[in-house]
Amino acid sequence: MAVPVSKHLVTLALAVSISVASVEISAQETPAQTASPAIAETLSSLERAAEVTDPGYSSAAVVANTKSLDPAAATKAWLAAVPRDQREKSDAYFEGGYWLLLWNFLLITAISVFLLESRISARLRDFAERAARVRSLQVACYAIPYFVIVATLSFPLNLYEHFFREHQYGFATQTFLPWFREQLIGFGLTIIGGTILLIALYTVFRRAPRTWWIWGTGLVVIFLFIVVFIAPLCIEPLFNTYKPLANVEIRDPILAMARANQIPAKQVFEVDASRQTTRVSANVSGVLGTTRIALNDNLLKQCTLPEIRMVMAHEMGHYVLNHGAKLLTYFGIFILIGFALTSVFFDAAVKRWGIRWRVRGIADPAGLPLLVLILSTLLFIATPLLNTVVRVTEREADAFGINTSREPDGMAKAALKLGAYRKLDPTPLEEFIFFDHPSGRARIRMAMDWKAANLPTGESPATETMPPDRR
Ligand SMILES: [Zn+2]
Repeated sequence: MAVPVSKHLVTLALAVSISVASVEISAQETPAQTASPAIAETLSSLERAAEVTDPGYSSAAVVANTKSLDPAAATKAWLAAVPRDQREKSDAYFEGGYWLLLWNFLLITAISVFLLESRISARLRDFAERAARVRSLQVACYAIPYFVIVATLSFPLNLYEHFFREHQYGFATQTFLPWFREQLIGFGLTIIGGTILLIALYTVFRRAPRTWWIWGTGLVVIFLFIVVFIAPLCIEPLFNTYKPLANVEIRDPILAMARANQIPAKQVFEVDASRQTTRVSANVSGVLGTTRIALNDNLLKQCTLPEIRMVMAHEMGHYVLNHGAKLLTYFGIFILIGFALTSVFFDAAVKRWGIRWRVRGIADPAGLPLLVLILSTLLFIATPLLNTVVRVTEREADAFGINTSREPDGMAKAALKLGAYRKLDPTPLEEFIFFDHPSGRARIRMAMDWKAANLPTGESPATETMPPDRR
């Protein structure tokens, strides 16, 4: 489950904080109940068929094994193991997400235009100015009712997307009241975090109405850094319980991989995600000293050790490759460009409609819906770019994961399980636009390419034949 800090805000800043806060990692897989016994059987026979018999120390074995596995054919065979009805269901679920992207964008657009055109935004600003003298307090007096209005108006779509739809596809485990309670907690966090951010941003708007986009970028990046830093300490515990891995048979192989990659064992945890969902998942959260790798209890219950090792090695990839800091940097660049464009569009819009909307300029809180409108439009247009940036880091983590775990079949099986809610075999264009993780097909192909390459595990034969004095 993603940290719901920012669901209501739909601003670039907070949308980004979600992606970073829960560099929510490729590992979410499917509930075991969707993986029928039939498919499990097909998978294990496939595995046997594709098995490499020799670990490949000798070059002769390498040649023989490379010949025996055709990565393209093996990928096809794995994909063919998924029954048609399961494939149709997951395609429908995932493609529904494309439309939700559009509906959410149209909704925040409609809400923003409504608040401006009805001058509710201007009246809210008037109220804030009467209620408080200090500028920062005025921003807070505007922001809190604004968040309440937006959350209320977007509640029906939120309810459908995150409650009914999740139940319809069998992913949700919560009844309405516990779900609603968590929504309220998330909303409380949005109000606290959003109001603090807005007070700081409007201070920048007042001091530097022309160059705010530069200082504002710095401010938002610092804000995101703080959110990511405190997420494992203050935010995640509000929704789930994290504890050190208990099962020794799972823990020891995972800690061995962690030690081999210089990851402190105190940062590998188990989380009770089954409270909210049947999905199998793992994630890395935090930054600097708070970084923590967590695998969820669904994963522990539903996956075999090879799959678990692969998933955890992928998460360790995010940790070792320092993806949190890298994504923060990439998003910082996106925010800078987005704010620069916003600055131009905002001034142009105020010039044209400012009198009608009673919005005075960037430093006027009444212009917040316009700011959100422009930012969410840019965010919507940039969706393929943002997804690609994340997908590329996911692919890096996959490469790290397969090299560390050395579990190509575990990777293929995990990818198929993920296919319960992520389209397995999309077109390249679809993958570019909508996928923030590699598709199942791409992952299985990577696993099969790795398997076919059949890397030796020890010293290469060339080194062994060298005279001792030249080693
Ligand atoms: Zn990942």
